[in-house]
Amino acid sequence: FKQINDTLGHRLGDLLLIETARRLVNCVRESDTVARVGGDEFMVVLPEIHGQNHLQTLAMKINDNIGDPFLIEGKDLFVSASIGLTLFPDDGTTAEVLLTNADTAMYRAKSEGKNTYRFFTPDMQQQALDRSRVENRLRRALREGEFLLYYQPVVELSTGKLVKAEALIRWRDPERGLVEPIEFIPVAEDTGLIVPIGSWVLQIAARQAAQWKDMAPEGFRIGINLSAPQFQRGDCAALLSDILEAEGAAPEQLAVEITESVFISDKGEARRQLMEMKSLGVQVAIDDFGTGFSSLSYLKHFSIDTLKIDQIFVSGIPDDEEDVALIEAIISMSRALDLDVIAEG
Ligand code: MN
Repeated sequence: FKQINDTLGHRLGDLLLIETARRLVNCVRESDTVARVGGDEFMVVLPEIHGQNHLQTLAMKINDNIGDPFLIEGKDLFVSASIGLTLFPDDGTTAEVLLTNADTAMYRAKSEGKNTYRFFTPDMQQQALDRSRVENRLRRALREGEFLLYYQPVVELSTGKLVKAEALIRWRDPERGLVEPIEFIPVAEDTGLIVPIGSWVLQIAARQAAQWKDMAPEGFRIGINLSAPQFQRGDCAALLSDILEAEGAAPEQLAVEITESVFISDKGEARRQLMEMKSLGVQVAIDDFGTGFSSLSYLKHFSIDTLKIDQIFVSGIPDDEEDVALIEAIISMSRALDLDVIAEG
């Protein structure tokens, strides 16, 4: 829904919500209640059910109905519903608890493939608690300086020359040891902590660039990953420029890496900030290329310097014919557009 709202506008988004509500009402009985609780979240209350089967059948019916294309103002729109189910009194005896648990089950359905439903189970609650524990520990990690950066070298194939190093964050958790980003970045993104963590990365990488200024090979750059929430704040380029100056590093020593998702939300703003970075002398690379929404026009539009082919394609060569074909296509496109290509992994 968010993508439709962002790319086609709120008016179409609103019409889609109205039609969704209609379909939901059509799925239930006269005696049931359908409500929109906010954004694209709906709630259905069934005062009377005939066992768990009844709920299951209804959830499948809703998934089917919402899964059918919506014809709105001549456009076919596709959305899916993630459904969480709670039962009174097993899963809670107050509306508040029932709703919180339904929410938890809904997130589970969402993370397990969308367009599906999940019944609430107590272990889900445990996971939600774990999540908030991770959030608290991430706050502490920032405060106590428990993050560190590793630098992954990027080597030019034709010369064997070291041309770049990508700064990759790790978390040295006093309780668990070294934690990989996959375990904490999603929580950081959900909670907004990615913004202060991202600023920390910028600062440390810029400091490192300043230290390496005289010893690094000519043209060497440090790659830094920037996430969509950092762009949404609107001061990403200004922050980058301030940090570079404070740490005594040059913009020509840096390359930022962004994923295609940056372009989905708020195109104009992201473009403005990227252009600002480019005009400073910072290079821009597209990370995980090939796994996003792949609208190619942005490659020229945003004057991108580098494509990083996602590791899932790279790991398939030379045996997987499809991967080989895809990579060949990406390389020849990059030549035509005068882009550098990095094979991830
Ligand atoms: Mn990256």
